[in-house]
Amino acid sequence: MRVTGLPPYDPNNVFAKILRGEIPSKKVHEDEHALAFHDINPQTPVHVLVIPKGAYCSHADFSAHASDAEIAGFWRAVGKVARELGLEAGGYRILSNMGEDGGQEVPHFHVHIFAGRRIGRMVPREAG
Ligand code: 5GP
Repeated sequence: MRVTGLPPYDPNNVFAKILRGEIPSKKVHEDEHALAFHDINPQTPVHVLVIPKGAYCSHADFSAHASDAEIAGFWRAVGKVARELGLEAGGYRILSNMGEDGGQEVPHFHVHIFAGRRIGRMVPREAG
């Protein structure tokens, strides 16, 4: 088993740039704690990313270091985005990749919301 500490937050990651307005995004929601925007490479008809406004690398970092208000505000925003996009009737999946084995590519904590078709198995049988 690997024993590694969490990496420091990289303020030049692409989602930090989106938060600062340095890179455009197709925004669907913004409030005090969260920003939601369409994924640039959608895997399902609806594929939205929700990110906290604070500088957290991953869910590990966010769950350990964010305040209760940030955590509550973020997760309420995830639910609100799905509700306001009309996804509850058909259903949706939320997913967050963490670290290498989780397949995380962008080192700013984010939740994917997938919807718009039957998504299939919860986890692929083999690593992609
Ligand atoms: P991860 O693998 O880290 O969980 O997912 C990162 C996601 O960010 C991918 O689905 C990828 O398509 C998306 N992404 C990467 N760069 C950009 C970007 O510049 N804009 C947007 N909207 N999404 C991005």
